[in-house]
Amino acid sequence: MPLVNMKPLLRDAMDNGYAVAAFNLVDYNTTKAMVKAAEELNAPVICQTSAKTIKYFSHKEIVSWVRTVAEDSPVPVVLHLDHCKDIAMIEACAKAGWTSIMIDASELPFEQNLTESLKVREIAEKYGVGMEAELGQIMGVEDDEHVAEEDSVLTDPADAKRFCDALDLSAFACAVGTAHGFYRGEPVVDFDRIAAINAATRTPMALHGGTGLSDETFAKAIARGSAKINISTNLKHVWVKSFVDYHLANPKDFEPLRVGDAQYQACKAMFHGFIEKFGGKDRGPAFLNKLPKAA
Ligand SMILES: [Zn+2]
Repeated sequence: MPLVNMKPLLRDAMDNGYAVAAFNLVDYNTTKAMVKAAEELNAPVICQTSAKTIKYFSHKEIVSWVRTVAEDSPVPVVLHLDHCKDIAMIEACAKAGWTSIMIDASELPFEQNLTESLKVREIAEKYGVGMEAELGQIMGVEDDEHVAEEDSVLTDPADAKRFCDALDLSAFACAVGTAHGFYRGEPVVDFDRIAAINAATRTPMALHGGTGLSDETFAKAIARGSAKINISTNLKHVWVKSFVDYHLANPKDFEPLRVGDAQYQACKAMFHGFIEKFGGKDRGPAFLNKLPKAA
């Protein structure tokens, strides 16, 4: 089916107490594996792209992969742009066929962040796509940019309300104690803050830095309004490790399709696990039934 808009999907997730898994695709094979895993579970999925992946491949290539795999699939698939600071790139994505775009101007003071984000609001309206924006700074490394723990600022619920009221977001990214990359110790996630922000904004929350969080943390965050959970670091590791492991186990096999298939199977199993853990199983058909039928 055609790609779906992220906004009604995340509303459905928030209203029904589940979260949609969002994976940062790295190539065609991982794109195919994430949609296949969603299909096996009748679940929705978000294929998302970092700005550096788009620069490496091009808009044209990425949209063609995601459309191709989604077209033949009965489950709802969103193509989302993850953390982007470049308004020209954001508009190029919306124009090329992304069904959701993210502006990350979180390093700027509140008013400037809101001004930049409002520019993207106009782009989202022009192209009829979903939108995510960020307030507060999530620690760790994202797209080669590092935010130190002492520089991360947890999001204030009252600021969050002003920000979300002005932007009408599909997903709200905020800092609640999670981090990009691998955790060194058990992260201190501020669940009360998640609940307070959600009560104030009534906007589906995007939980960034999903890699390495416990099942209990996921469940508690989802119960408090996290409707989109991002997984990127985990995928990078499975992608490299499955390739290396296959070669070490089969040192004489130089058939690329078998190595690629080992990667595909390992990534698919990982996607399957997260989608199920976030409560996505069987949510696809239920969501699609609620959408207004095309005339
Ligand atoms: Zn992120």
